[in-house]
Amino acid sequence: ISIEKIRNFCIIAHIDHGKSTLADRFLEITGTITKGKHEQYLDKLEVEKERGITVKAQSAAMYYKVDGIEYLYNLIDTPGHVDFTYEVSRSMRACEGAILLIDATQGIQAQTLSNYILAKKQNLKIIPVINKIDMTSANTESVIQQLVDKFNMNPNEIFKVSAKKGTGVAELLNNIVTLIPPPQDHKELKCFLIDSWYLRDKGVVLLILMKGGYLKKGDQILSCAFKKKYDVFEVGIQSPENVPQERLEPGQVGYVMTNMKASNEARIGDTFRHPLSKTLPETGFEQVKPLVYCGIYPEDPDDYNELNKSIFKLALTDPAVIIQKESSAALGNGYRCGFLGVLHMDVFRERLENEYNLSVLLTSPSVPYKAILRNGKDVMVENAIMAPDAAVIKHYEQPMAIATIMCPEEYSPSVFQLCDARNGRLIDSEKYDKQDRYTFKFPLNEIIQDLFDKIKSATKGYGSLEYEFCGFEKANIVKLVIHLMDDPVDALSFMVPEERAHQLGKKICQRLKDNIPQHLFVVSIQAKVGGKVIAAEKIGSTGKNVTAKCYGGDYTRKKKLLDRQKEGKKRMREVGRVTVRKDTFISVFKDD
Ligand code: GDP
Ligand code: MG
Repeated sequence: ISIEKIRNFCIIAHIDHGKSTLADRFLEITGTITKGKHEQYLDKLEVEKERGITVKAQSAAMYYKVDGIEYLYNLIDTPGHVDFTYEVSRSMRACEGAILLIDATQGIQAQTLSNYILAKKQNLKIIPVINKIDMTSANTESVIQQLVDKFNMNPNEIFKVSAKKGTGVAELLNNIVTLIPPPQDHKELKCFLIDSWYLRDKGVVLLILMKGGYLKKGDQILSCAFKKKYDVFEVGIQSPENVPQERLEPGQVGYVMTNMKASNEARIGDTFRHPLSKTLPETGFEQVKPLVYCGIYPEDPDDYNELNKSIFKLALTDPAVIIQKESSAALGNGYRCGFLGVLHMDVFRERLENEYNLSVLLTSPSVPYKAILRNGKDVMVENAIMAPDAAVIKHYEQPMAIATIMCPEEYSPSVFQLCDARNGRLIDSEKYDKQDRYTFKFPLNEIIQDLFDKIKSATKGYGSLEYEFCGFEKANIVKLVIHLMDDPVDALSFMVPEERAHQLGKKICQRLKDNIPQHLFVVSIQAKVGGKVIAAEKIGSTGKNVTAKCYGGDYTRKKKLLDRQKEGKKRMREVGRVTVRKDTFISVFKDD
């Protein structure tokens, strides 16, 4: 198929505005899948099905005839949540156009705006489409007005569809040909890597956009990033299952199987070319910086090797995750991981569990702090254990974020109360219809401690929150250290804003008290900041001997009891003089 007949586009929208449903209709109308057989076909990952959200971009090639001429449409599904902006812009790199989908009952929402801005930045042709016009609560006219006011759109160019019923979808498909331009041919072989994943029996599969040239089985390609050569075994398109092709042509989006075995050789944004050509690589993606950190540990310490294998494999499909090994006497072996946001973190955990069959424990999230040193230098402190000595620190800075919160006006007072309690500073407010839109500046730490859930429940689910990192600001950050029997426990040290130290210290002492078994002596638990005790608990002693309960003769019963105790011991760990269950400390960090 010649390049003028190819259209590469994506659908962008706020969450739940109907992307996946619209994609299903596209696949059906073009005959790519059979009607009614599949739902949300593009949401391949199990976690997406469970949560009903799209996390990882997937592509689908569809052949479609307009006025008797056959075109190849490549639809790239994009994730909707702000934590995945990275994936969105990555999908956009392979597109010339974007369908901007807006729910007729909701109008413009936080992510409609941010996606629109991203698409504009990438110079995509944007097609506005209002969805769910079948619903009685649809407010189509006022949404059109919003699009005219906010985005300067021409009302005659706005499509109105029901993705669910199919109304207007064929018309939209027919217009894509004229509205979205075909890709450009760079003539020489140039494959831009959009995505990659690992198949057990085939190795690493690359999803590429053919910026130019042809690619077929038997060819050799060279990675511009690593200067390594690979033999091409198979090329094909996802339509939506893998369909092998004779060759991939300029403008196509397709998969490539090679002898690449290690997923870390597939760096998203890399360019592959002929080994002998001088083609310059496409500029890659900006490296994103994680702003939310947490520890990930195997639920069963024996699974550490499994986790070790899986976590890196998974991380390679998600270049935005940062992973470092971490081990301590108290927590055991695990990883310290950096994510773009809390949802990103949650999804990563679910993918570990679903795709790799692992049970993992996550410690509650924290942000990195910047320590400004007396010698003028600065260091990032992602983990309290790594914090420089107080004597060399001038002060700390904390990451801040600009948050956009939208909610129906009647919930504004509760939203304000909440934001106030989280040290939010109002910067701007706006009204659309009966919706209020606020811009607040927050310490990022306050946002990642479940502010989103709190806003959802304060607004009966109608509120939305989107945030973006906006730099570091000076803050009073202290190191909180938990002591057991007067010994400091490294794994239980935290960087916290001073005004939160007492609250956190109290919570942790309480949780430890609930989780640590009684000992033969009184166990003392203290939370200290700079040597000063700010919270404390005690666990009373017990001298109980478990077998004493069994009357003399019953040996088997006694043995069973001792066995169970031994089994229990395996799951125990000594911390100084105190014995704790292996997962105690991790569960102490867990969210409520
Ligand atoms: P996504 O998060 O943007 O992928 O949204 P989904 O495609 O998962 O849709 C979210 C919800 O809206 C689902 O329950 C869909 O069935 C529903 N939905 C999508 N399009 C329409 C539509 O045109 N009309 C109605 N009534 N519901 C729709
Ligand atoms: Mg979806």
